[in-house]
Amino acid sequence: MALLEITDLHAALEDGGKPILKGVSLTIRPGEVHAVMGPNGAGKSTLSNVIAGRPGFVVTGGSVTYDGQDLLALDADARARAGVFLAFQYPVEIPGVATATFLKTAINARRKAAGEPEIEALEFLKRMKANAKALGVVEDMLKRPVNVGFSGGEKKRAEVLQMAMLEPRLCLLDETDSGLDIDALRVVADGVNALRGPDRGMLVITHYQRLLDYIVPDVVHVLVDGRIVKSGDKALALDLEAHGYAQFAGAAA
Ligand code: ADP
Ligand code: MG
Ligand code: MG
Repeated sequence: MALLEITDLHAALEDGGKPILKGVSLTIRPGEVHAVMGPNGAGKSTLSNVIAGRPGFVVTGGSVTYDGQDLLALDADARARAGVFLAFQYPVEIPGVATATFLKTAINARRKAAGEPEIEALEFLKRMKANAKALGVVEDMLKRPVNVGFSGGEKKRAEVLQMAMLEPRLCLLDETDSGLDIDALRVVADGVNALRGPDRGMLVITHYQRLLDYIVPDVVHVLVDGRIVKSGDKALALDLEAHGYAQFAGAAA
């Protein structure tokens, strides 16, 4: 069964009703990594926001199923508890909540939804330290409030740490590469690659091909003006790098 099946999805801005997604279809099977590339304003962030159930958008047509269930019927929290994780292009700050506490709370919310017991304090610490080390997240950051005062690169690392700790089944990465220098990009990509697995699916959104040198996708989709105008393998990303998005201008009209 598909992990995520999007069929002819239409979505508009809640405020004003401007149509953004104009019939998107794609299917992610367990184990697959799909990349979505496209010019600024194409609707890439809207797509990940709508999948994650973030406010501000109205679905005006089509369907999204996750593991066979109607994802659109769940609110954003329920989607997160069901294993859908969205790493933001612009990570939010949560003043007053230490990163470690936030991680533990989020893990336990998922466990509770799955009818599992809370994570043992020692197991949590062990996993957090191992993951933090692998991602170059210093321990001091884990004690600081979520994202408050983090640099751009630190925020991205902290997000991938969240992802590694939560072990989602569907990872949505929205321009997780933006603002990263090449070393940070590698660290983040390694963290994402470590999470690849037979049961997990990923949707990696990026404006640039560079990230896909490190996170090699199974399928690449080109999104222009709210529609997927082309899908292919990783060679498509290289083609876009060489020839740009202009070749698709008007293709979505
Ligand atoms: P991308 O991520 O591909 O750059 P977005 O999904 O962010 O594209 O945006 C698609 C279109 O929707 C753009 O024209 C953008 O200006 C508009 N848009 C998205 N979110 C909002 C919002 N909250 N308010 C107004 N316009 C928005
Ligand atoms: Mg944008
Ligand atoms: Mg965006």
